[in-house]
Parts: sequence; structure tokens; C-alpha cells
Amino acid sequence: MSETIVIAEIVKGAVHPTTSELITAAQALGSQPTVIVPCADASVADGAAQYAGAGKVIAAKSDVFSNYDAAGWASALDAVAPAGVILTSASPQSKDLGARLAARRGISVVQDVVKIEGGNLTSPIYSGKAMQTVSLSGDAVVTIRPNVFDSSGSGGSGDVSVVDTSGNVATAVQEFMARASSRLDVAEANIIVSGGRGMGTPANFSHLETLADTIGAAVGASRAAVDTWDEIPHSMQVGQTGKTVNPNLYIAVGISGAIQHLAGMRSSKYIVAINKDADAPIFQHADYGIVATWEEALPVLQSSLASMMA
Ligand SMILES: Cc1cc2nc3c(=O)[nH]c(=O)nc-3n(C[C@H](O)[C@H](O)[C@H](O)COP(=O)(O)OP(=O)(O)OC[C@H]3O[C@@H](n4cnc5c(N)ncnc54)[C@H](O)[C@@H]3O)c2cc1C
Repeated sequence: MSETIVIAEIVKGAVHPTTSELITAAQALGSQPTVIVPCADASVADGAAQYAGAGKVIAAKSDVFSNYDAAGWASALDAVAPAGVILTSASPQSKDLGARLAARRGISVVQDVVKIEGGNLTSPIYSGKAMQTVSLSGDAVVTIRPNVFDSSGSGGSGDVSVVDTSGNVATAVQEFMARASSRLDVAEANIIVSGGRGMGTPANFSHLETLADTIGAAVGASRAAVDTWDEIPHSMQVGQTGKTVNPNLYIAVGISGAIQHLAGMRSSKYIVAINKDADAPIFQHADYGIVATWEEALPVLQSSLASMMA
């Protein structure tokens, strides 16, 4: 097996805990990975060195890493990462980055991997209706779905070496892509509160945001909500043509449970549905169902959860 390289997941300028899941995935490929941390400030890499299982930690330091820019990041990381199998998170940003890195190197990319066994990689296809298994031979970029692999744990003592990549990106396009939202991204969240057309107006999503803030959740939406209201961005859409999520808890509010929505969230560990229609299909997939309007149910849920969290 060639060298395995983990590109640390960076969220808001810090190493995200998903990185430790990437280390576990790399270990499943049979090797101790080199972890590369894209950063503007080398001290950020200390966040990766704390994880058990990292062989070497390299702080790839450049101003280009201050904000995400696909071309700039791919160019800078391509210059630092040795040949081998590169693992990134399957977050929307890192899937984009992974595909660009693979294209630069002319190697394969396997997206959204949920299982690694003996060099075989399994990932969902056809909106999660089937699983495909491919075997890895040679260098590739592999993106790993968040919240599937265990954390490699803490207690690592990897030394951090700093590589200044500024020179390598001098000609790279540095186009600032503002994050669509400062909120937690649904693809990375452990808890998601999602709203559908049953919320009535986009302003009513503020009730979901209040609940989400109470329990540390991200806010998602159905396609009907996203298509109906300009105020609800497409980045929040969960489903076949939106994001695939895999949280521990998914709370669906005013969402009917169409097959295309289920395609993006049915692998959630626990599903709670609030819908005024007892026959809504979402209840067939929910672990807990509340037949009520959200106007009735949300205040009760909000106050119970707020007192639990206090
Ligand atoms: C090719 C294709 C791809 C698609 N991709 C996606 C996708 O990625 N994601 C996605 O979500 N959809 C997708 N869709 C659309 C999907 O088929 C549904 O139309 C959509 O999911 C419905 O969204 P909804 O449940 O919010 O709205 P609706 O179907 O209108 O349901 C609203 C629900 O809210 C309930 N409700 C109403 N008022 C209240 C209240 N006050 N309190 C509580 N409950 C209330 C109603 O009983 C109803 O069940 C796709 C469709 C196609 C054809």
C-alpha cells in the first residue's frame, strides 16, 4: 500500500473533529497517515497533532488557506502532499477539493465512502438506494462521509512540521467564496432540525433556528421549502438533489416525507417527525412521531429541551 495522506478538515479556521475519523479510515486502509493541515497560521495544526494515530503532521501554511478557494487550495495542497491515497472528508467543500486534487493528479476519486475493508471501499449510489464496493489499486482520492467512522481518539503526540506553501500558490486564483451561512452545515451536523413547506412562511424558520441553537443543531429544509422561498438557501436542502446527511438525530418539521427527501436523511440514527397529518409518509420512517401542528408542538419541545440543556 502506498502512502496514505489525510487532509485535515478545516472549519472556521480550526481543525474539525471529523479529522480524527479520517485518521481511523486511513488506519482501516492499513497505514498510519500523514496529516496535512491547510492553514494560514501554523499553530492551527496543533489541533490535528492531538489525535491518536497520526504519523506525521504537516502544517501547510499559506495565506490562500484563510478562506476556501477550490483552485487555490488544490494547487497548494498538490504541491505539498506526497503521492499516495489522499483522504478528505465528504463535506461539500472537501468533496469539491478532493475532486480537484484527483483531476490535477489524474487519479481516481471515490466519494462518500462509508466502509473500508481489506482495500475495498463501500459508498452509497442512486441516492442511497444501493451500495457499491470498489477495490483500491494505486493512488486515489477518497472522501469519507462524516459521522460514520469512529474517532481515532486523543492522546496523539505527532510533531508538527511547517511547510510554507505561499510560493506555490502565487499564481493561483484566490477567489473568495463566502460561506453561505455562518451556521453549522447540515452535512457535518450530529443533530439537524429541518423544516418543510408546512412551516408556512420562511420567517417561521426562526422557530427552528431557536430550537437548533438550544441543542447545537444545524437547520435543514425540504426542496419544497427551498424552491418556494428565496430566503431559504439551497445549501440547506436535504434529499436526492440536496445534501445527504447522517446525523444521530433528525427532527423533521412540516415535512411530508417524500421519497426524494427520505433519500437524503433516512440513514439518520433517530428520526423525529412533527406533522399535523397523521397519514404523512414521514411517520412510516420516524422513530418518534408527534401528530400536531408545529405551532403547538415546537414551543413544548423547545421549553423541554431548553430545561434539559440548562
Ligand atoms: C427529481 C426530484 C428530486 C427531488 N429532490 C428533492 C430533495 O432533494 N429534497 C426534498 O426535500 N424534496 C425533493 N423533491 C421534492 C419532493 O418530491 C417533495 O415535493 C418535497 O420533499 C416536499 O416537501 P415538503 O414535505 O416540505 O412539502 P409538502 O409535500 O407540501 O408537505 C408539507 C407537509 O407539512 C405538513 N404541514 C402543513 N402545515 C403544518 C403545520 N402547521 N404543522 C405541522 N405540519 C404541517 C403537511 O401535512 C405536509 O405533510 C424532489 C422531487 C423530484 C421530482
